[in-house]
Amino acid sequence: MKRWIQPFIEVAFPNVCACCGSSLYGDKRYICAWCTDSRFEDAWDEETILPDNVQFVFSMWQFDKSGNLQDLLHNLKYNFLKEVGRELGYLAGRAFIEKMDADILQEVQEARPLMVPVPLHRSKERKRGFNQSSALAEGFSKATGWPVLTDNTVIRKRKTKTQTGLTTGQRAHNLNGAFGVNSRELLEEAFPLIIDDVFTTGATTFELASTICCNGQTCGIVTIAKA
Ligand SMILES: [Zn+2]
Repeated sequence: MKRWIQPFIEVAFPNVCACCGSSLYGDKRYICAWCTDSRFEDAWDEETILPDNVQFVFSMWQFDKSGNLQDLLHNLKYNFLKEVGRELGYLAGRAFIEKMDADILQEVQEARPLMVPVPLHRSKERKRGFNQSSALAEGFSKATGWPVLTDNTVIRKRKTKTQTGLTTGQRAHNLNGAFGVNSRELLEEAFPLIIDDVFTTGATTFELASTICCNGQTCGIVTIAKA
């Protein structure tokens, strides 16, 4: 049985970079060193107007014009590349520790950071087999040692239409009331760090922030890319 399964696994998951397709050698990885070190640009610093309960948005990379990063994140979502998600999350965790403003980093560390993946609707997660934000959170947690909020503490109460093609206002309206919290206990004692793949207008992460933060609590947002 095993002899049959192994070649199948190699065909389904060839040992090539998920981003550029070049062969990978040595220890098992999913994105090559060239792609992680030099392919993507750091996210540009620009003024984003944040709601009162969001202290900062940290994005690792800027969306590139050639669309490589977009392809990679699309693959992560639709081709069930859970391991790629973990690796991207790990890279984001390392980037956060290295590049975040030292005072903010210290503040976050002292405030008991807790990773909060953006929940998918149950039916969507079943269809996809995993939640890409959870995979990112697991990787981020591996790099920082910060725990991930238990599954189903925060949920997506209703299905939402795709955000593509909607204006900022329409996006916010589309997400309004989409999330719910089953238990506030863990969240209340922590500094929630929401993690998602892409930051565009912030409609999704800001809505989640407003759902999980109460009584003047603040949170942070971490994403792999900024559009
Ligand atoms: Zn590559």
